[in-house]
Amino acid sequence: MKGTLTHMSKTTSSSLPESWDLETDVVVVGSGFAAFVAAAVARARGSEVIMLEADDEVGGMMRISSGEYWVPNNPKMREAGIPDPKADCLKLMARLSYPTHYNPSSPTLGLSERAYQLFETYYDTATVAVEELAVIGAMGSVFSDGVTPDAVFNPTGHIEYHSELEENKVEYGRAMMAETGGIHGPGQGQSTIDLLFAHSQRAGIDVRTGHRVEQAYVNAGREVVGVLAATATGSVTVAARRGVIFASGGFFHDEAMRLQLLRGTVWGVTAPKANTGVFLKIAQSLGAMTENTDSLWWGQMAVEEVRDVHRSDNMAFWLWGDSMVLVNRHGHRVVNEKAHYNERGRIHSVFDATTKSYENNILFQVYDDALAHNDEMGVKYPVPYPGQPWDLVVSGNTWDELADAIDERLAKLAADTGGVRLAPDFASNLSDTVRRFNGFAETGVDEDFGRGTAPGERGYSVLGLTRGVNRTMYPFADSGPYHAVLLGAAGFDTNGGPSINPDAQVIDWDCEPIPGLYGAGNCVGAPGHGAYWSGGATLGNALVWAYRAAVHASGQTAKEL
Ligand SMILES: Cc1cc2nc3c(=O)[nH]c(=O)nc-3n(C[C@H](O)[C@H](O)[C@H](O)COP(=O)(O)OP(=O)(O)OC[C@H]3O[C@@H](n4cnc5c(N)ncnc54)[C@H](O)[C@@H]3O)c2cc1C
Repeated sequence: MKGTLTHMSKTTSSSLPESWDLETDVVVVGSGFAAFVAAAVARARGSEVIMLEADDEVGGMMRISSGEYWVPNNPKMREAGIPDPKADCLKLMARLSYPTHYNPSSPTLGLSERAYQLFETYYDTATVAVEELAVIGAMGSVFSDGVTPDAVFNPTGHIEYHSELEENKVEYGRAMMAETGGIHGPGQGQSTIDLLFAHSQRAGIDVRTGHRVEQAYVNAGREVVGVLAATATGSVTVAARRGVIFASGGFFHDEAMRLQLLRGTVWGVTAPKANTGVFLKIAQSLGAMTENTDSLWWGQMAVEEVRDVHRSDNMAFWLWGDSMVLVNRHGHRVVNEKAHYNERGRIHSVFDATTKSYENNILFQVYDDALAHNDEMGVKYPVPYPGQPWDLVVSGNTWDELADAIDERLAKLAADTGGVRLAPDFASNLSDTVRRFNGFAETGVDEDFGRGTAPGERGYSVLGLTRGVNRTMYPFADSGPYHAVLLGAAGFDTNGGPSINPDAQVIDWDCEPIPGLYGAGNCVGAPGHGAYWSGGATLGNALVWAYRAAVHASGQTAKEL
């Protein structure tokens, strides 16, 4: 070993290898969207790049993603004459990310200097990043396609998720996707990865699968200069002269971190199993500031599907159905069922001060038989298509029978749920809830939660539903059978971790960068504080911070190895 052993932990070592197995300018950890963007940009700026992926396949979560990224004031908007002034866009971002601090008349909109700078950087960088990726031949970008709130196809994308807010001055155009010839939806993520992988091979990027990074090396100057990766045939040390960019996803699949950092029960994620938070451990051992570590990109999943495996390709994005409500164990609605997934997923961890419990830990999506037999195509999960048997669906001919069937299920799941059961008056409350809901469906006005008011909700959740005055609601049938699925908090992945500065450098608690260490995508403490600014927010963040990291690392002089 070279030098004196000053610090050695499972995750960082200041004892450098005598000789490195591999040497390069920039090491990128992971091979999802953030990783490929970082690698492409660093390579184009003259860096030698090695990508290290733990899995046997490249692509990360992007393999199953719909592949849309949020790019304010993007080139296609400018071409189409859709204005998106920076001041307005920053207000929207600030309002969504820090609703209790937001102040439109403050120079930083009520945010800390650092948060405000990150938002400015996002706005300034996203459009530059898509332009540069196109110029270097890695990936062209076009408008993501979508539908309007009236379910009419719209070539400039779908409506912004939060278009009802007064701070949102743009309705369509910020959502982009890679120019693959595909459409926004299943398959688009894989096609994007195919494009980026093909480019990486043309550009001479060394992509290595089956390399699980476990440790970082720091030199005598406390600079991160390499990593150690475990492979099927032993460990490999890889030196990084200019920087190590982590794009290794969240920490959800590390059970201890999940239990210690998250509140309530989060049942599962769509993230790859390899995402176990090694970056967070490495960065913390080097003194990194962390943020947002109790957070995910939220959604909901069928509890019974994921309670053992904690992973699924499916997530309940927009709850499908018109004659449908979501109720708690008392039979009461607790949320606008058509609210956006990131908002809806958060209601499960609301603590009840009276019962001293998470009363929403499990919620019940209840629907009638007309929906069960609706054979329109659409994203219906967790409601199965007609004829598709799924034993996660609980049924009953009357509200009493449905209540008994749900409670029987809960009894079977007791070991995983803290023993939660239905309240004794669930069936009668549910019957009242449905009667009240039916009245709202007749008038088209949901007096309790405003369901179907926001254009964003309608734009995403009414496909195939044409029956009601307000297409998000329709009265339940007078007689059963009725059905239910047990839903719990879930998400794409965690989105908390080490804090970054506008160059995507990991910073310590004094906001000083830890030299050589960068992060992008779901592995960092989300600069947007967990807000889902609109469709494409997670991949937009991956794009921006991967780009910034690659530009900064490529501009560094070689460090001492
Ligand atoms: C159905 C679906 C649709 C979606 N649609 C959209 C959308 O349209 N827009 C949007 O913004 N988001 C969408 N998302 C979410 C989005 O796809 C993810 O947030 C995003 O792909 C995450 O990218 P990432 O690069 O940060 O991380 P990941 O894709 O999770 O990549 C991390 C990579 O790092 C590897 N890794 C982990 N640990 C190590 C280690 N120690 N060593 C080496 N490698 C390691 C993993 O194997 C993985 O390949 C969707 C998700 C799903 C499931």
